[in-house]
Amino acid sequence: MKCRHCNSKLENEFIDLGNAPPSNNYVSQDKLKLQEKSYPLRVMVCSNCWLVQTEDFSDADELFTDEYAYFSSTSISFLEHAKNYVSEITKFLKLNQNSFVVELASNDGYLLKNFVELGIPCLGIEPTKSTANVSRQKGIETIEEFFGIDCAKKLSQAKKADLIIGNNVYAHVPDINDFTAGIKELLSPDGTVTLEFPHLIELIQNNQFDTIYHEHYSYLSLFSVSQIFNKAGLKIYKVDKLQTHGGSLRIYGCHKEKDMMIDKSYKDLINKEIKLGINDINLYKNFNKIAEKIKDEFYKFLIDCKEKDLFVCAYGAAAKGNTLLNYCGIKDNLINFVCDAAEAKQNKFLPGSKIPIVHPDVLKNEKKIDFVIIFPWNIADEVIAKLDFLKANGTKFVMAIPKLTII
Ligand SMILES: [Zn+2]
Repeated sequence: MKCRHCNSKLENEFIDLGNAPPSNNYVSQDKLKLQEKSYPLRVMVCSNCWLVQTEDFSDADELFTDEYAYFSSTSISFLEHAKNYVSEITKFLKLNQNSFVVELASNDGYLLKNFVELGIPCLGIEPTKSTANVSRQKGIETIEEFFGIDCAKKLSQAKKADLIIGNNVYAHVPDINDFTAGIKELLSPDGTVTLEFPHLIELIQNNQFDTIYHEHYSYLSLFSVSQIFNKAGLKIYKVDKLQTHGGSLRIYGCHKEKDMMIDKSYKDLINKEIKLGINDINLYKNFNKIAEKIKDEFYKFLIDCKEKDLFVCAYGAAAKGNTLLNYCGIKDNLINFVCDAAEAKQNKFLPGSKIPIVHPDVLKNEKKIDFVIIFPWNIADEVIAKLDFLKANGTKFVMAIPKLTII
């Protein structure tokens, strides 16, 4: 396989999570006995540009359906994050009624609605029909397309964008060069692009291997994104560190030829990454071993619980949990059920592990729950607060990442 960015031969493995079914392929009762299709989940690192990326495999297109489309507006903290961003960036770039804002993967309009309220013209680009429709209902002009150079050429004939936003989309793009070339094409001469993505350094330092899944093609550092931008004729001039998704970056980019001061935040972070060894194979070599240790500890914990006849269930039927469970080879004999508030998932089963998904109210009816495993560790505080009523009965909460923790 060749590197998605620089086309060098990929020879170094970062982590091999084995074969796994797509993390969003929830199984219905009538298909429970059928064989599931699974795909290799192996991540490589390019020793030329240091882009960390999933290994390619054929028939990838058949994987991704929008049946379980994620609506950004369901998360309150996400809405607040978007609102604060819009108010900050509007001031920072001095945007007004004559500006034009484009968001890539604009979802259900959770972010752009804030620009509509300010009277700043904007456009959403969102390939998923169900979310695009909700966005239009909020009065946001939205086109249903995958973004890339072709889409950008069409749009830029009418108007170029003063601000292009891409939050949690960059890592999900199979052809990252085409996507970045599209940004270059659509950006006005003085325009800014901001992208938010989970930071590879956090993934490595906090053992977040459960954030790896098929839909997530790249695992990004400031170092690798700088090179991708540079090749496309763009440059990064500022970076913010964010708490979202276990530690993310927000980068600010512009045309390479623009006379723009490079902020200290960029220089500091790129130096920090180099100091940590971002362009040295040693940083990536031990990740398999670390993941294996977590797998052994977590599995042993569940076996111990089973031997002691303790009642174990889980919270959050999201992608993270599926990666962890399938990598550890955990099935429904070790975890009774997983609760999730999303109706579309209830009464189905997790892909691979076949653990049943139930309504969170089930927790109120169980006589004695010894342990609740929280899969979305990034919102553990929020979940524990919500499930506070269980503590009176002696329930404890468990997280497997970054290491086995029992609260
Ligand atoms: Zn490369």
